Amino acid sequence: MIGAGAAGMMCAATAGQRGRSVLLIEHYERVGEKIRISGGGRCNFTNAGAGPANYLSRNPDFCRSALARYGPRDFVALVERHGIRWHEKKLGQLFCDQSAVDVIRMLRAECDRGRVAWRQPCPVDGVTRSGERFEVATPQGAVRASSLVVATGGLTVPAIGATPFGYRLAGQFGLSVVPTRPALVPLAFAPDALARYGDLSGVSVDVAISCGGARFRENLLVTHRGLSGPAILQVSSYWDGREPLAIDLLPDVDARDWLAEHAHSDARLDTLLAQRLPKRFARQWCATHGVARPMRELGEAGLGRIAADLACWRVLPSGTLGYAKAEVTAGGVDTRALSSRTMAVRDVPGLYFIGEVVDVTGWLGGYNFQWAWSSGHAAGEAA
Ligand SMILES: Cc1cc2nc3c(=O)[nH]c(=O)nc-3n(C[C@H](O)[C@H](O)[C@H](O)COP(=O)(O)OP(=O)(O)OC[C@H]3O[C@@H](n4cnc5c(N)ncnc54)[C@H](O)[C@@H]3O)c2cc1C
Repeated sequence: MIGAGAAGMMCAATAGQRGRSVLLIEHYERVGEKIRISGGGRCNFTNAGAGPANYLSRNPDFCRSALARYGPRDFVALVERHGIRWHEKKLGQLFCDQSAVDVIRMLRAECDRGRVAWRQPCPVDGVTRSGERFEVATPQGAVRASSLVVATGGLTVPAIGATPFGYRLAGQFGLSVVPTRPALVPLAFAPDALARYGDLSGVSVDVAISCGGARFRENLLVTHRGLSGPAILQVSSYWDGREPLAIDLLPDVDARDWLAEHAHSDARLDTLLAQRLPKRFARQWCATHGVARPMRELGEAGLGRIAADLACWRVLPSGTLGYAKAEVTAGGVDTRALSSRTMAVRDVPGLYFIGEVVDVTGWLGGYNFQWAWSSGHAAGEAA
């Protein structure tokens, strides 16, 4: 097994506890590093409502079987068996009470129960197949095995061990890889928007945001480079690089009716908007749109236009902040080559791909770890 992250450790423990002889190879000096830094150090380890609708993939049904056979409840049961206390933050997101390190310790203990052997830190020089077996070359000697599970994750945060190894190995065995891109990632303002809104860095707005057929109701955060916060991270996974984001700044009201109620008021629009939006944001938005004027001067047609702009503020980012700032990599090993039940490559007996390296990408909120547990468990039952 290559890669001792979330999926690799789950898979190794599952296979080992079935009595399989498992060797886990990890090139980085620490295991489960992404678990350690996740969820602000508390690891949002699953989402109670995780289901196929929360994942992006060229085959949206691919994740169904693995999630059904090892779902959030199974992982919560495991966490509880290890005495790890947890809480729900919001929207079904489950976090450790204490520390993400508890999850790493738990996975290591589960690996120990399965008598998993480790080679770590240990790079992999290459993989070859002869007959029914794989040979994995490492500086500490070659390893031969009848099954090889690839759990090397995606390309995000290369500083803590991410490599394109899994995608290259897929190519070596003739599998196609859906083009990868950073997902759950902050977006950059184009220079004109940066000049107008960059000073609002730190301001957070509760919005409904739509893009690529998806809609999320979450907070948007203005940063010194562009937009971030849960609303933007979620929608970034659906952004194609060309379509403007459609942001409803007043998701709780009908903007047209609300403005009409105040149509004859002497109050300025930015003052009125500050009842529902952060003051600095309201002021800047009105100045940019040239409407920081008393309501009664804006006229019926003007208010109609403003209401439409507030309900659908269109922002075209200039790009993403890339893999260094992304939480996950979208795209990956094409699921058409894999069994959805076992994660095995259909045409290469004994070869498996699990976790983030596969073209299955979860929303923000514990869904990506759940995919790592579910796919790792599925392969661990079969490999
Ligand atoms: C900052 C941050 C916060 C996150 N927070 C959350 C969260 O709270 N909830 C959530 O659900 N998801 C979260 N994620 C996403 C989640 O961490 C990943 O989706 C998940 O870790 C994927 O698991 P994996 O096992 O497939 O890959 P990884 O956990 O990335 O593990 C891959 C392992 O393979 C090793 N490896 C890579 N190349 C090689 C090689 N050539 N040889 C040997 N070993 C190799 C790596 O060092 C690593 O240990 C977060 C991600 C980031 C970056």
